[in-house]
Amino acid sequence: MSWSNALVKEILKPESLIISSEIAVVIADKFPKARHHYLVLPLADIPSIFHLNRSHLPLLEELHLLARNVVEVKGLHWQDFNVGFHAEPSMQRLHLHVLSRDFVSPSLKNKKHWNSFNTELFVPYTKLYSQLEKENSISRLSKSLKDELLAKPLICNQCEFVAKNLPTLKEHLVAHLQDPKSIRKRTTSENKRTSSSP
Ligand code: AMP
Ligand code: ZN
Repeated sequence: MSWSNALVKEILKPESLIISSEIAVVIADKFPKARHHYLVLPLADIPSIFHLNRSHLPLLEELHLLARNVVEVKGLHWQDFNVGFHAEPSMQRLHLHVLSRDFVSPSLKNKKHWNSFNTELFVPYTKLYSQLEKENSISRLSKSLKDELLAKPLICNQCEFVAKNLPTLKEHLVAHLQDPKSIRKRTTSENKRTSSSP
């Protein structure tokens, strides 16, 4: 079985299921890109967002309901989460990402990880739902747009800070988590340092 089938394999293990319904399950992401990162998958063999049409809207609503359930079960706050799909998924079986906005995690290791969750490469649930409702399918981004989005600067998801590299961004994200009030002042000086560095 190839690596891209790992999720299909994972949901067959009862011990991996945090929540399950008759049509979908929730598992923990094995390489979480934030402090809390879950995946919601249908049991039906739907390979990806490119296999969806209007008839799947009720299924999407069920995935969304399970996303809300897992956040509630874990005692977390829904407003602290990003919920959506990758525009260019790498793993087989449709999966809805549910991840906390802190993005503090050792598994966040490169610019691609950041930009795949913090540019148009991440399609919020509501956007995908209305696109499907309107157009009856989800189309692929062009290769040039994908490359452009992956190459975008590292812009903080919580303020205007532009990091010169990933370690700097990760340090900045930890500061948001530890002391949300101090971050505005830090941001101004950090951006000055970034723009004056070679
Ligand atoms: P995507 O890029 O949208 O296809 O996301 C695939 C997600 O699956 C990534 O966030 C990976 O960290 C996650 N992942 C990869 N292998 C596993 C696994 N065996 N169990 C749980 N999550 C996994
Ligand atoms: Zn910030």
